[in-house]
Amino acid sequence: MDQRKRIAIYGGTFDPVHSGHLEVARSVSQLFAIDEFLFVPARVAPHKQDAQVSSAIARYAMLALGTQGDPKLCISTFELEGQATQYTVDTLRHFRAQFEEFADLFFVMGADSWTEITSWRDWETVLSLVNHIVVTRPGYSFSAEHVGPELAARVADVRGMSGTGVSELIEPGRPKIFVTDAAMCEVSATAVRRAARENRLDDLSRLTTPAVAEYITKYRLYRNTNEQ
Ligand code: ATP
Repeated sequence: MDQRKRIAIYGGTFDPVHSGHLEVARSVSQLFAIDEFLFVPARVAPHKQDAQVSSAIARYAMLALGTQGDPKLCISTFELEGQATQYTVDTLRHFRAQFEEFADLFFVMGADSWTEITSWRDWETVLSLVNHIVVTRPGYSFSAEHVGPELAARVADVRGMSGTGVSELIEPGRPKIFVTDAAMCEVSATAVRRAARENRLDDLSRLTTPAVAEYITKYRLYRNTNEQ
């Protein structure tokens, strides 16, 4: 019998995709032996509805440029093509229905998202539908107190562990919340937008990829944002 596949799902605004996202994707793929790593850009993330977000087409184009050349990194347009804002709980139900028979699913998020998880729609269901991988991020420490003892008991702290050790902890049908320090990267989309606004082209290439930086410069994205 074929081995079950492992598919990672990485939700976010990706405005734009940056080196931190790509480092997370590559390190997590390696540590968890992920077969397919899916970026799932949000139509507009529910918690960012008031902020000015680039068009779905621009965010998709930058994701395509940022992931080109890496066959494992793919983009799903599921949330972008929906009629309304999709919530993570709906997205995970969709991917479960599509893949669950032959794949284990892993939803990936940064430590900042984890601290806010209890504000997500149906967050307890979100945490129960699939495995989760919480990736450390500078400035955020990990705690599971806010999710309560039952869910906290499903946390598997794999910081410092090898791929073999991690694989032994993955059990089909028994989703866990993995915490990993496989990536520890300071970059944020906010920093990319700031570099674009201030026309710091070298920083822009380093914070994203040269192709994404070129797209941002060519279409003059983020020039007029007035965020700090
Ligand atoms: P912004 O600066 O606009 O808040 P962001 O850099 O957090 O954006 P998002 O697209 O909002 O980027 O993030 C999508 C997902 O990636 C979230 O789960 C977020 O926590 C995670 N993430 C983003 N940057 C990093 C990073 N450097 N390390 C680990 N996780 C990250």
